[in-house]
Amino acid sequence: MITAAKYFKEKFGHKMYKAAISLDVTCPNRDGKVGKGGCAFCSAGGSGEFASSCVLPVREQIDDAIARLSRKVPSDTGYIAYFQSFTSTYCDPEYLRISLNEAMDHPKVEALSVATRPDCLPEEILDVLEEAAGRMPLYVELGLQTCDDVIADSFGRGYKTHVYDEAVAALRSRGINVITHIIFGLPGEDKDMMLRSVKHAVEQGTDGLKFTCLYILKNTRYEKLYEDGQIEVLDQQEYFDIVEEALKNVPEDTVIHRLTGDGPKSLLIAPMWTADKRQVINYINRRFKNLI
Ligand code: SF4
Repeated sequence: MITAAKYFKEKFGHKMYKAAISLDVTCPNRDGKVGKGGCAFCSAGGSGEFASSCVLPVREQIDDAIARLSRKVPSDTGYIAYFQSFTSTYCDPEYLRISLNEAMDHPKVEALSVATRPDCLPEEILDVLEEAAGRMPLYVELGLQTCDDVIADSFGRGYKTHVYDEAVAALRSRGINVITHIIFGLPGEDKDMMLRSVKHAVEQGTDGLKFTCLYILKNTRYEKLYEDGQIEVLDQQEYFDIVEEALKNVPEDTVIHRLTGDGPKSLLIAPMWTADKRQVINYINRRFKNLI
């Protein structure tokens, strides 16, 4: 495995930070095309709580994000325009093309990252992504979460794992870098099942991985189940024990983009250890100092 920090430093010659952007899109798992109400853990913001408002032009959203980050990051930092909220390719291909071009025209943007669902990559969208990837490094982030279709059905993912497999193959055949999101701690999964999802993504050829523990957020279907004591979350030690096992099975050239995420504090119900970012970073640095 290689850490994202090391990978970006080697590829771009400096640190890279993400400038989060929202497009005017929703998600087929929310608007009724595939499902209603979204995945059981997904908040109304569609995982884009750190992005700016989609009513602003892409360029302004990038400016806003860079202004927010600039006090914290070195002056020679490069930026990845991160199309984060909901399903960024669930839109008209021309709208996506214009939005990606606007991001690539920003003088501080050196790469693009597009978060989406594997079932929202028709040929015309793949053409747009391939065109953009010809101009600038492009990462497509796919929310697999688990390779187990029964578990995926239980939280309402709305597509089968073979759709993810096909999407990875289609993206890679067009020279597009794939990052796979996996959640550890989904109800009904034991450690072996979680590790199987990592193995599955690696076998399909994912270029990178992002891990996160299951968060319980306000106004999600899991909130009620959690409050009723029907589901539990992982504690810090349990979670990172699974991460450590997972990393042992990741090939040398697979990029680890995230060992854990942090949910929006205003919505977070559990696990509360994730809210103390500094503590989590210190823990990771101590525990994984030989790995990262
Ligand atoms: S696919 Fe993504 S945006 Fe859509 S409901 Fe699931 S987590 Fe939320």
